[in-house]
Amino acid sequence: MSNIVAIVGRPNVGKSTLFNRLIEQRKSIMDNQSGVTRDRVYGQAEWIGKFFTVIDTGGYVVGSEDVFEGAIREQVEIAIEESSVVLFVVDCITGLTDLDKDFANVLRRGSKPVIIVANKADNIEKEYMASEFYQLGLEGDIFPISAQSGSGSGDLLDEVVKHF
Ligand code: GDP
Ligand code: MG
Repeated sequence: MSNIVAIVGRPNVGKSTLFNRLIEQRKSIMDNQSGVTRDRVYGQAEWIGKFFTVIDTGGYVVGSEDVFEGAIREQVEIAIEESSVVLFVVDCITGLTDLDKDFANVLRRGSKPVIIVANKADNIEKEYMASEFYQLGLEGDIFPISAQSGSGSGDLLDEVVKHF
């Protein structure tokens, strides 16, 4: 099976920003022709000689609670079916939300390893906020990053490639 990393999480946590950063580190350009669907974007990435595919599972319009429930299920189903490891992105500026807990509950029941990515840890104060996400009750470490600046992404990628 090929190495596939799915990025999931509620809207606005920085999934697409992280996706673009992971792709950028490969220094390749996203293919606009193939692999782009309404709900999922695929890109190729590389870290210390290991090549992998990244899926950005954004693209949902949140219309109602019911719609969002469906969106969560669909994202997580995609992630579990297609990926080797799931990056569950949360937001240190907003902090823990009920929607984060919904995602965690579904991911916990899945069979794929989950890495919690505490994004928007732009400075030390925000980085401290990341420990709040241990309340999600998922196994493994939490990786504080700033997808915007790139800080923390090296440590995250070191962890990601352990799963290949
Ligand atoms: P998505 O909906 O999860 O794909 O989130 P986006 O990648 O579209 O980002 C949502 C917003 O968060 C945008 O305004 C980004 O510029 C912002 N954002 C993403 N990463 C960071 C970060 O590391 N720090 C801060 N402060 N903002 C970020
Ligand atoms: Mg997005």
